[in-house]
Amino acid sequence: MDCIFCKIISGSIPSNKVYEDEQILAFHDINPQAPVHVIVIPKQHIQSADEVNEFNSPIVAKIFEAIPKIAKQCNLENGYRIITNIGNDGCQSVSHMHFHLLGGKKLPESIV
Ligand code: 5GP
Ligand code: ZN
Repeated sequence: MDCIFCKIISGSIPSNKVYEDEQILAFHDINPQAPVHVIVIPKQHIQSADEVNEFNSPIVAKIFEAIPKIAKQCNLENGYRIITNIGNDGCQSVSHMHFHLLGGKKLPESIV
């Protein structure tokens, strides 16, 4: 499949890994927007959060269980932000559901 994040999971594209278990991978973003910018993905290809349903939703819980561990590992005790972009209007550039974990400084005011 022509998916950059599936290639990162398979190892055919290298990444700087932060966390990995059977179902989840987290790695540093190639173009960081904050001192800490980690991408957290399910190993299962799900196009976006808009594709979450009653069958695949347990992986979302697993991701949100992993996030505090990753945040602790990255010394984000002062807080952080999680973002997931969806589709064209959401400016999603990689069509494999992912959660941006951003922190390491006081982040700019957001639109929400
Ligand atoms: P999106 O815009 O889809 O929400 O976020 C995609 C993110 O993936 C971007 O922040 C981009 O920098 C990151 N990214 C794209 N290609 C690669 C890659 O090959 N390696 C890594 N580590 N990050 C990537
Ligand atoms: Zn994929």
